[in-house]
Amino acid sequence: MLKPILAANWKMHHGPTEARAFFRDFLAHTPRVTGRTVVFFPPAITLRAVQEALQDRPEFLTGVQHVHDQASGAFTGEISAGMARDAGARMALVGHSERRTLFGETDEATGRKCEMLLRAGVIPMLCVGERLEEREQGMTEQVVLRQLEAGLAPLDAAQAATVLIAYEPVWAIGTGRTATPEDATTVHGAIRRWLRERVGEKAATMAILYGGSVNRGNAKLLLAAPDVDGLLVGGASLDPSNWTAIVNA
Ligand code: PEP
Repeated sequence: MLKPILAANWKMHHGPTEARAFFRDFLAHTPRVTGRTVVFFPPAITLRAVQEALQDRPEFLTGVQHVHDQASGAFTGEISAGMARDAGARMALVGHSERRTLFGETDEATGRKCEMLLRAGVIPMLCVGERLEEREQGMTEQVVLRQLEAGLAPLDAAQAATVLIAYEPVWAIGTGRTATPEDATTVHGAIRRWLRERVGEKAATMAILYGGSVNRGNAKLLLAAPDVDGLLVGGASLDPSNWTAIVNA
């Protein structure tokens, strides 16, 4: 997968009709993108509309924001990793801070989800990040490495090396407060050192994305920071013009 990776997390925004309108505008202003990977994580119910809008633009990938940790069963409202793959998702977010805090996604569940996704042929993007009080207590590294360890726990080294990592400090998500490029590099460096212990040499080529209030004004600087291999973007990915600027940053 080509780096940098630019990922759009639409959260609970843009149903099929809004997605079609988004792509009419975005594609008209975005000539063929090369040398980078761009992936959209729309709401699952919008995935089909996004894929149809992108059918002549195979350089863009799609994924889902969430899967259940079981293959099937009586889990009303949920979707499985296998269903996501069947619907054409190439990637899935795992452990986004909103899933952890609002929906009780545990560290252990993130591990099971990564395992189910890889078994189904979907690449997990494992999100990790500390809360503000944890940062203020000097616990950033401890929290991030704990989440990483749990998310990759069921995987052998070769499988773990295929997972994408997104460092998203919780205090920066949707707040307008962005980590500095230096902050991002510090934490990404700690993640990469930990990954080297866990998966060996392949850690050097694994992608570690930064997320948290990325916008068209700060994307270029963040992307240029050492050890930052891409960006996971929420709010600013909803607007075609902002997203075009970030994709080309
Ligand atoms: C996100 O939800 O992953 C995110 C980074 O959101 P925002 O860009 O809006 O902070």
